[in-house]
This record gives sequence, C-alpha cells and structure tokens, in this order.
Amino acid sequence: MCSVIQIFEFMTLLDGLTTAQTIKKRIQTEVAERVSVGKRPPHLAAVLVGDNGASQTYVTAKVKACEEVGFKSTLIQREAEITEQELLKIVHDLNENPEIDGYIVQLPLPKHINELHILLAIDPSKDVDGFHPENVGKMALNLPGFLPATPYGIITLLKEYGIETEGKHCVVLGRSSIVGLPVSILLQRNTYPGNCTVTIAHSKTKNLKSVLQSADIIIAAIGKPAFVTADMVKEGVVVVDVGITRVPDDSRKSGFRISGDVDFQGVSVKSSFITPVPGGVGPMTIASLLLNTLQAAK
Ligand code: NAP
Repeated sequence: MCSVIQIFEFMTLLDGLTTAQTIKKRIQTEVAERVSVGKRPPHLAAVLVGDNGASQTYVTAKVKACEEVGFKSTLIQREAEITEQELLKIVHDLNENPEIDGYIVQLPLPKHINELHILLAIDPSKDVDGFHPENVGKMALNLPGFLPATPYGIITLLKEYGIETEGKHCVVLGRSSIVGLPVSILLQRNTYPGNCTVTIAHSKTKNLKSVLQSADIIIAAIGKPAFVTADMVKEGVVVVDVGITRVPDDSRKSGFRISGDVDFQGVSVKSSFITPVPGGVGPMTIASLLLNTLQAAK
C-alpha cells in the first residue's frame, strides 16, 4: 500500500518516491530469494555516450538503484566521438553476452549517430527500456513484452493509489514515442488501469485550454516548465506531471532547479491527485526499469 500525503483538504500527493521505494523493497526480496536458491542476481548494463549532464545524472541514478535492490550493474561509458559502427558493436556484444539480462542505451545520442539504427539493433528480449518496435507493437496488442519505463511507472502509480480510470477522459499532453504515445495506448487498454477515453494533444492541437479543461486525468509530457496552469484544468482533476526541465536558478548551488510541465502551486489546489516534480514520475521510471530487468532475468 502506498503512502497517502494529504496536503490540502482535497488534494492527495501521488508520491512517486515512496511508491518506488516500496516497489524496490519487493524487488529486493525477490532477488534475495533467487540468490538464496543459487540463481545469479539480475544484471543490467547501461551504455552512456558523451557528457550530457542530465544523462549522466539519470544513468547514475539507475546504477545506484540496481545496487539498492541487489542487481549487478555494468556501466559502459564512451566519448561523444564514438562512431555509429563502434556503438553498434557494443550493442551486438551486449546482445550476445549471456551474463547481461537487460540493457539500456541512454538517449539522446550525439547527432552523428542514428538513434533508430541503434534501437533496432537491440535484442528485444533484452530491451528493458521497452523502446524496440517489437516491444511497442506487443504493448499495443496487449501481449507480454517490456513496457516503456516511464509509461509503466505512470500506470503503476495510478494503480498503487487505486485511482479510478474506467470511463474517464484522459488528456495526454505530448506524443513522444517514449512517453506520450505509449501512455495513451496503455490508458485506453481494456484493463485496469485503462479503459479511459484518451485524447492526445500536441503542438498543433487547437483550443488546447478547452481540451485540457474537459480532462478527468491529465498526463503532461511536453518539457515546457509550468505550462499547465490552474485556469486550464477542472476541479478534481488527476494530474501526472512527467516534465523535467532544468530552469536557471541563482539561489541554488547547482545554478538550476528542476521544473515540471505543470504549475504545481496553482494546479494542485484544484486537483484530487497530483504528482510533485521532483519525486513523482522520475523515481517510478527507475523502479519500472528494475521491474523490467527482473522480468528479463526470469
Ligand atoms: P519530446 O520528445 O520533446 O516531445 C514533446 C511533445 O510535446 C511533442 O509531442 C510536442 O508536440 C509536444 N509539445 C511541445 N510543445 C507543446 C505545446 N506548447 N503544446 C502542446 N504540445 C506541445 O518529449 P518527451 O521525451 O516525451 O519528454 C517530455 C518531458 O518529459 C521532458 O521534460 C522530459 O525531460 C520529461 N521526461 C521525464 C521522464 C521521467 O522519468 N520523469 C522520462 C522521459 C521524459 P509535437 O509532436 O507536435 O512537436
């Protein structure tokens, strides 16, 4: 059962940090059981290319999470100048390595590397990010496969809080292949969480404000800080804020703060449930990656 933090009389915080900790404890227990009967711990590899600060932060957090639950992890770091052929060789080696259960290639990659070429080279049975077209197709058809980590984290959070989804109008803001599109597929499926009537909104959507105002559930994934404001949502809305943008902030030692796509202060007053940023979808994404890796090991 997840923790329920009631901030206002009406609103409940969807606490991704605590929920992810609960999931990690379950994984840790399962790993310990596997190891106690002589099986090796699940092994996740992460490929990091270049020196993108955000990517380094994400990969470090993923490796740390592996340690927490008792997984083995391997970090493969390469300079931004690596060629596509050299990166493909790493991918092929990971595909062939029986000691590796699953791996991720952290995106974005440098401009001279075609991300699709790399993605297509990943063995779908080790694709714990769930980005390979085979896994995307399986998700769309509701067949077993790896769900992309962020959408998987979002539906898990809705489930852990017992949020009603059936018959609800869900507006997904953003149509990226890693968040918006897959989460819209998951929420329209004939299962729980799902059975929503889903609208996908994007940069060409007209009357966005009135579209958002009709939403019972909003999933915001556009990368525009504090874009969704209180006047755009109705009372009682459920809000999942996926956005992570570094906003300059001189008051911080780092020189920046992390902002979501939702103006939390304004929107939370009208929400029944809302995720914070940070501490909402981010930790759930990592927990979902661990769940996928455990599934790959099984
Ligand atoms: P993306 O690939 O950059 O796509 C952004 C989407 O937002 C596009 O579909 C775009 O529309 C739409 N959009 C942009 N401006 C808009 C506007 N003014 N009105 C309506 N739609 C607009 O984004 P992404 O990779 O999904 O990431 C979105 C955000 O989530 C980013 O802040 C990212 O850092 C964050 N993220 C967080 C996690 C996590 O674990 N918490 C994971 C992944 C991503 P068009 O298609 O028309 O261009």
